[in-house]
Amino acid sequence: MKCVKCRDKAAVHIRRHNSAFCQACFQEYFTNQVARAIKEDRMFTRQDRVLVAVSGGKDSLALWDVLLNLGYETAGLHIHQGIFEYSASSFEKTTRFAKERDLTLVTIDLAAEGDLDIPGVASSTRRTQCSACGVIKRHYFNKVAVEGGYTVMATGHNLDDEAARLLGNVLHWQTPYLAVQSPVLEATHPRLVKKVKPLYRLSEYETAAYAFLRGIDYIVEECPFSHDAIQLQYKEALNQLEHRSPGTKHGFVLGFMREGRQAFAETTSVHLRECPSCGYPTTGDVCGFCRLQQEVHKNNSGRRN
Ligand code: SF4
Ligand SMILES: [Zn+2]
Ligand SMILES: [Zn+2]
Repeated sequence: MKCVKCRDKAAVHIRRHNSAFCQACFQEYFTNQVARAIKEDRMFTRQDRVLVAVSGGKDSLALWDVLLNLGYETAGLHIHQGIFEYSASSFEKTTRFAKERDLTLVTIDLAAEGDLDIPGVASSTRRTQCSACGVIKRHYFNKVAVEGGYTVMATGHNLDDEAARLLGNVLHWQTPYLAVQSPVLEATHPRLVKKVKPLYRLSEYETAAYAFLRGIDYIVEECPFSHDAIQLQYKEALNQLEHRSPGTKHGFVLGFMREGRQAFAETTSVHLRECPSCGYPTTGDVCGFCRLQQEVHKNNSGRRN
């Protein structure tokens, strides 16, 4: 098969677009897709300071790489979750990527933040690892961005992630989540940073191909807790549909953005107030992060006494 742009030998085949690209044209296509999402969805401009959440995986490192190539002002944020070998390796890949390119990287070590490493929190609070991890990551993403004066927080969620999340939200009619499922979440409070997902038009296969062709050294292993994640089952189901009918995920996610999200947003009202403990916005009284932290401290001090 030949590259649709230059007729050279194709290296990456994209079935949903019925296209194939050589290595150079694929990198150009990938970069253009990101640039288009940033512009059309009004994610950020050259005046913004962008904090990129980097796990050391292909998506987040590919995102940081492409934003650097596009000339945006960026810094990385890595959260060391304390998940055994997986976290040690994620930390190593992320720090090496930043060091080799002389980039600013902020790291948060959860174990040093008052015993907030994910395995410890899960066993002390009896929550699932992923639910504890979600609450903790969201809190630090926002806090580090606000305190560091970053105007935008970017994450490496790709089309497969967004399609799986959308499927889960639809299957359980999670209307409050459907109202906020978007590649752009505006800052609706002075202590809430704008959140964006510039890779949402690109599939997992495409981000893997980009990272490989760019020679990015990323962590291939999955988090050991991910086998329990229901998201993986949604991804498998969507992959089967995509295999039979290329473009299914793209149509599902972009169609929802175009046709559905606004309807859910209009029926959902969110009242934010400041958490009395940490001062960051919350919809309830004490925020989810502070409740979790208090639970961990109470249970751990009970065990130590
Ligand atoms: S699989 Fe769960 S615990 Fe592991 S990084 Fe993802 S959300 Fe966190
Ligand atoms: Zn080409
Ligand atoms: Zn709080």
